[in-house]
Amino acid sequence: MEAVFQKISTTFREKSSLAKVLIAATVGGGSIIGYYSQASSYDDLSFADSSMTDKKKKRIVVLGTGWAGTSFLKNLKNSSYDVQVISPRNYFAFTPLLPSVTCGTVEPRSIVEPIRNIVKNKNVKIQFWEAECFKIDPENKKVYCRSNVKDNSNENAELVVDYDYLVIAIGARPNTFNIPGVEENCHFLKEVEDAKNIRRSIVDCFERAALPNLTEEERKKILHFVVVGGGPTGVEFAAELHDYVNEDLVKLYPYVKEAVKITLLEATDHILGMFDKRITDFAEEKFQRDGIDVKTGSMVTKVSDKAISTKELKNGKESTMPYGMVVWSTGIGTRPVIMDFMKQIGQANRRVLATDEWLRVQGYDNIYALGDSATINQRRVMEDISDIFSKADKNKSGKLSVKEFRGLLDDICERYPQVKLYLKHKKMNNLVDLLKESKGNSVSESVEVNLENFKAALAHVDSQMKSLPATAQVAAQQGWYLADCFNRKEECEKNPEGPLRIRGEGRHRFHPFRYKHFGQFAPLGGEQTAAQLPGDWVSIGHSSQWLWYSVYASKQVSWRTRSLVISDWGRRFIFGRDSSCI
Ligand code: FAD
Ligand code: MG
Repeated sequence: MEAVFQKISTTFREKSSLAKVLIAATVGGGSIIGYYSQASSYDDLSFADSSMTDKKKKRIVVLGTGWAGTSFLKNLKNSSYDVQVISPRNYFAFTPLLPSVTCGTVEPRSIVEPIRNIVKNKNVKIQFWEAECFKIDPENKKVYCRSNVKDNSNENAELVVDYDYLVIAIGARPNTFNIPGVEENCHFLKEVEDAKNIRRSIVDCFERAALPNLTEEERKKILHFVVVGGGPTGVEFAAELHDYVNEDLVKLYPYVKEAVKITLLEATDHILGMFDKRITDFAEEKFQRDGIDVKTGSMVTKVSDKAISTKELKNGKESTMPYGMVVWSTGIGTRPVIMDFMKQIGQANRRVLATDEWLRVQGYDNIYALGDSATINQRRVMEDISDIFSKADKNKSGKLSVKEFRGLLDDICERYPQVKLYLKHKKMNNLVDLLKESKGNSVSESVEVNLENFKAALAHVDSQMKSLPATAQVAAQQGWYLADCFNRKEECEKNPEGPLRIRGEGRHRFHPFRYKHFGQFAPLGGEQTAAQLPGDWVSIGHSSQWLWYSVYASKQVSWRTRSLVISDWGRRFIFGRDSSCI
């Protein structure tokens, strides 16, 4: 059905005396479109005042209240925009502590902060609606959303919102790779609700296993915990679970202790493959010592309600093992609303929504996508090589002197970050060295290169292109960067600061987004953490665990969550984890 049946909820209508609802009911093709006007009919759900619906102000619609969306809102200072935030959850969740929530080390409420609290003291007035976007219409600049609140006829109200600028920050969904039975039988670990379900399910397994009249085999099945995915989340969860079982649960269920088993399945050859080899080796050895059964090279083929089937990649051997609980943590996939959007804008053949280096969805100047919902499609030097050459060739001689080339050097390095990475890789100081190398090192500053020499010199530069990881660090930095662009939009309109356009005239308005990596942690249980910091600095053990505590405490979004998280850690040290099944 092309058109969308739009209902403005009576609950909202009754509440709003200022509602300006324009029902453009069009009966076409058997369907009706309702249109929700610029002014909000939801004003008592928001902190709206009359200035917020100022029609002169351009409207930014932000989809999502995760790392990217919240970071954008926190840094947005330009009060000349009317900002509307739409997300199915009215809070920000500190996802790196979700594995701690699964075992009761940290309470769920300690890692969430209402989005209204986060933005309440800002000079920019921001409205929030608890709704989920299900369609983006880029041609008419509208988003179609479904409220989480049910109306009188027990249906979820739908609304259409106009935007001038759209910020897509809706994250991703767990990736099941369409393996049969995963959706129905496995736990995911993505949202706070997932972590709460896992916590209940673990204790539930122990209670079931403690019932009398079970055979030893049944008990072992119930207490077999399988974790699928040896990335940072799967590994951290397996480690947390091991600590929970050995530090707390075995004291409460001593007679089932021998029956507990934790299996970690990973399809590639090693767990924590994205970390330094020293960390991978340490983690695999530690898990072996702890009795966690790590099966690498093992791919899940099917999950039924009782057993999980795997295939060994080396020899194709298939096996099936019964389980009590499975946690699925194998990476992320694109949300359906983004897939639809990609079809509309000609990106149907891609797996992830692509943006340029300024985070604009390709082809749309007013739509931005950040965080896990998109990836930056870094431009290749070789795509633009002829344009770079002719731009640098100021005297149009068809040859490039080193002097001419130097004039464009900084802009090239800024526009194509792979160039700097390549020079670092080749241990060279700048691009001129590369040109000289291609012509023989003896050549002087007066060397001139033609297009073919130039292409040859830069032929391998693009090999250093890397896509950014789907992490909170990237999402938060992107949100911060984009807000900064909006904060300085007028200023940069007059004085553009970005690199020279290789195609076209003048400079780009802004510098492109650049990610700064501050390192990453892999908690391995037993108060030991592996830390990989910039410059390939690796630290493993108890000292890194204290670094982990201090970094995660300092990164909390508010003093309220910070104090709650720290007190949860203290409570756990003194009293252990709570195993009530509530
Ligand atoms: P999210 O934070 O997922 O936010 C998406 C937002 O969009 C949510 O508010 C959601 O409700 C909303 N939304 C969803 N659908 C819609 C819709 N249709 N319409 C409107 N809104 C919608 N990263 C690290 O850097 N370090 C870590 O230690 C780390 N640990 C992690 C542990 C776990 C268990 C998990 C799951 C992730 C972890 N990550 C970590 C990754 C990190 O959480 C993500 O990369 C980050 O959340 C991405 O931010 P985002 O804003 O793109 O998406
Ligand atoms: Mg020239």
